Amino acid sequence: MEERLQKILSQAGVASRREAERMITDGRVMINGAPVTELGTKADPSRDNITVDGKPVTVEEKRVYILLNKPVGYMTTLKDPEGRPIVTDLLKGLGVRVFPVGRLDYNTEGLLLLTNDGEWANSLAHPRHEVDKEYLVRVRGTVTREQITRLEQGVELEDGKTAPARVAVTKQSDNNTWISITIHEGRYRQVRRMCEAVSLSVVRLRRIRYGALAIGELKLGEYRRLTPGEVAALA
Ligand code: URA
Repeated sequence: MEERLQKILSQAGVASRREAERMITDGRVMINGAPVTELGTKADPSRDNITVDGKPVTVEEKRVYILLNKPVGYMTTLKDPEGRPIVTDLLKGLGVRVFPVGRLDYNTEGLLLLTNDGEWANSLAHPRHEVDKEYLVRVRGTVTREQITRLEQGVELEDGKTAPARVAVTKQSDNNTWISITIHEGRYRQVRRMCEAVSLSVVRLRRIRYGALAIGELKLGEYRRLTPGEVAALA
């Protein structure tokens, strides 16, 4: 986040806002090696190298943990070369830059975590961290016992056999069936590929649970902050 230099310096505890202004006009402050004497100058402490009298200034950014109900039609990347909407467009006004923990496809909706805490995100993404993720999948037509059993036991995909999954039919209508699939792996388009492998055609895919966290009452596009207890429980 870009901020005025004097605000960054005062937030970092270097000096009061007034004193920081004097440091700047006195030419003691540099951004990325270039002296800055203009008071309105902005910088981003997470990206720019800011120094006072040659000493680096470090700003502890507040850690933020978000649970978003991602709608279909948003990318979980931070930039899309094709200009499609990205999930962080839904978090305007947060005041810090966050990034998604893992991925959900453009056409997948549901529970997505976002944070600016790289360590926490890495620990969740680590293969050793076997957190259960539950998906509700609406598939065309009916589902046979055999298809369920194959999904449960693991199916052969290009990148190897999937680990055993928990699978249940949750709702049956005339044309569609909703099934719940719980996996702890997180391979690229895993649920879609698993369904394809047993000849099920996915119409809709929603992630509704990530470890102990459930999507709850959040509407599509809505988000909430995790409590400190929730953050600690997942790590
Ligand atoms: N599995 C998929 O196929 N897609 C997702 O977005 C998440 C899990």
